[in-house]
Amino acid sequence: MHQLNPVTEQIQISGIRRFTDLVAKYPDALSLTIGQPHWPTPQHVKEAAMAAIEKGYTTYTPNRGLPALLQAAHAYYGTKFDLDYHPEKEILVTAGATHALDISLRALLEPGDEVLIPGPAYPGYEPIVLLAGAKPVYIDTRADGFKVTSKTLQANITRRTKVLVLPSPANPTGVAYTREELEALAAVLQSTGVYVITDEIYSELHFADGHVSFATLPGMRSRTIVIHGLSKSHSMTGWRIGFVLAPAEIAQQMVKVLQYSISCASSISQYAALEALSHGQRDAEPMREQYRQNRDMVVRALTEMGLEVVVPDGAFYAFPDVSTTGQSSQAFAQALLHEARVAVVPGDAFSALGEGYIRLSYACEEQKLEAALARIGQYVARRTAQ
Ligand code: PLP
Repeated sequence: MHQLNPVTEQIQISGIRRFTDLVAKYPDALSLTIGQPHWPTPQHVKEAAMAAIEKGYTTYTPNRGLPALLQAAHAYYGTKFDLDYHPEKEILVTAGATHALDISLRALLEPGDEVLIPGPAYPGYEPIVLLAGAKPVYIDTRADGFKVTSKTLQANITRRTKVLVLPSPANPTGVAYTREELEALAAVLQSTGVYVITDEIYSELHFADGHVSFATLPGMRSRTIVIHGLSKSHSMTGWRIGFVLAPAEIAQQMVKVLQYSISCASSISQYAALEALSHGQRDAEPMREQYRQNRDMVVRALTEMGLEVVVPDGAFYAFPDVSTTGQSSQAFAQALLHEARVAVVPGDAFSALGEGYIRLSYACEEQKLEAALARIGQYVARRTAQ
């Protein structure tokens, strides 16, 4: 018998992964499970990576990342989102946003700390919190359009609360916070010592182009850690490039965690990222436009089917309520796959608060989406007629 870390044993394989394994058994299914843009990485970015290989830029870089890339990230996020973080002291290049979240939480948390997570939530947060010996505390957002409010935030803060994780736009719901909504949260946090980790990985896929970073609110910068990355904005999920923007004192601690976990992000990917941030300021625009149109199609179709859905502000997900069919999330998703050959992710993959919902990703071509929605419509009509 092996004596392993009980926390690792307690962590479940992601419900998304488990379901995509099942979907693989249905090669004729139309899949709306995908969590990445369906566009290729921009050509100019690929060429920069190929040139980096040719030039032999294949060695370790400084732990924090290439100085030129840190400068480029400073300029890019400064221009786009009004973020002002010192390139040498307050920005780190990580192996994707996942790793950015990991080093942020590990640098902040002590055993026993509580971390507030608005739920339903992206399944990547909870395991990192557990591995740090801390406790995930879900804030139920279902009655509030999937957003944490000043009231629900206040009600969940205790002496042990160390961090609020705040994704905007969010996965799996696509909702994004307005400035006024963020200000209301800031007002509650002002008198506390709670840190905020804002996951802004989908910020360039905000349909109204109205992304507001929590770090830009008066008084909030010193307690805010911003998570960014190129996975979604530049369709670079496999390149593994993310960024942490954090006050110098915190970044200084994080760099140690980064150093001993990965040494540095891939040098080739960093050169690709340098190109993306230097010359790809508008790369996300065509994707955003297509996903906005897809969003409209999805919301229209779901509403016609009689399924309730909160209108997503960004990303490429919708999270309709399927409880009216009388089925659980799992039962609905499995039957939809089996009978209608459409794959979606059961909502319980996004914490227990996702039960009764499904996540569908509209990061795909319009024709495929249209066909999949027609099949879902027929399935729902059959179910509700029973
Ligand atoms: N944060 C959210 C909300 C996500 O949806 C994802 C990926 O789906 C990530 C972080 C991880 O991004 P990355 O691929 O850059 O690690």
